[in-house]
Amino acid sequence: MKVPFLDIAAAHVELRGVLDAAWHRVVDSAYFITGPEVTAFEAAFAQYCGTKHCIGVGNGLDALSIQLRAAGIGEGDEVIVPSHTFIATWYAVSHTGATPVPVEIDPATYNLDPARIERAITSRTKAIMPVHLYGQLAQMDAIMDIARNHGLRVFEDAAQAVGARLNGTIAGQFGDGAGYSFYPGKNLGALGDGGAIVTNDDELAERARVIRNYGSRQKYHHELIGYNTRLDELQAALLHAKLPVIDAWNARRQQVAATYLDRLSDLDIVLPTVPAGHAPVWHLFVIRHPRRDWLREQLLAEGVETIIHYPIAPLQQPAYADMVAHSAPVAEQVAGEVLSLPIGPHMSDAQVDHVVASLRKILS
Ligand SMILES: *Cc1c(COP(=O)(O)O)cnc(C)c1O
Repeated sequence: MKVPFLDIAAAHVELRGVLDAAWHRVVDSAYFITGPEVTAFEAAFAQYCGTKHCIGVGNGLDALSIQLRAAGIGEGDEVIVPSHTFIATWYAVSHTGATPVPVEIDPATYNLDPARIERAITSRTKAIMPVHLYGQLAQMDAIMDIARNHGLRVFEDAAQAVGARLNGTIAGQFGDGAGYSFYPGKNLGALGDGGAIVTNDDELAERARVIRNYGSRQKYHHELIGYNTRLDELQAALLHAKLPVIDAWNARRQQVAATYLDRLSDLDIVLPTVPAGHAPVWHLFVIRHPRRDWLREQLLAEGVETIIHYPIAPLQQPAYADMVAHSAPVAEQVAGEVLSLPIGPHMSDAQVDHVVASLRKILS
């Protein structure tokens, strides 16, 4: 049996009718940039996130960096980021001219360790950008307390966490704003690139709208040096067609994760930890093993496809070779041991059983 890491085509078979309708509507409208489809999706996604505003942009990276720029963060400022994340979190800060300052993660949850944040705060620190990695929210209660005590702003990287909750509260409602990605492999994926900022801050929302669209409120009037990074009509229409099923899809991911957690608990691997109050959406199901590359090959021989998120810590990347003053041993160790098992809304019970049986066979 073959178990692909994620079956995106199956999602489109399920939704063929609504996706085709969305596609035809946009083709026939001949309206492709910042039109009614984007406005409608922005309203629907803001409602889903429980926020006042949603601003559709071209991708998740731009969502993250534009919310920082909209808050006036730039040259000379520092933003605290986790030591273990997808590189986009760090780039979002670097693109504004500010400096990303790494704080180690808690290796149990893979998210920012709140106990280590205060040591990293300097007179230049302007914001914290926690990441809800693998689909589980960071310890937002503790992070918001620290931010309030030090007068810092908080911008969430919610790219992997559409619909995830902590004590019933969804990403985007904790901090000043949150950035989402609709990259095709994300829980809510476009059929191309896409992203969004959600926020309850009227001024931030207004500035983000101007920045994403050539620094312009009124055509050919440019008040600042902006970007061209807009969610397009076609992606907005396709995302809007998918939004109604996202909770059901996340629920199926939760079922698969529950089976893994139950049936792999006696094996000699590190399973994900879900602290009290957290309802993750399992963008990824990540295990740890000291002989990770060996385990990956053994699984592949059983037909089970896995991926590593992420094999190199941001601080080890050539792009950040100049950050010699920092070290992140926890992130480095985690990068050497993590392995993501197949998970997705269209995984069959037989496929889940096969992943479990393969791991049991290899590790028993
Ligand atoms: C995917 C992702 C991003 C960036 O999103 P893109 O749409 O690919 O630009 C940012 N942060 C995290 C944690 C991600 O997983």
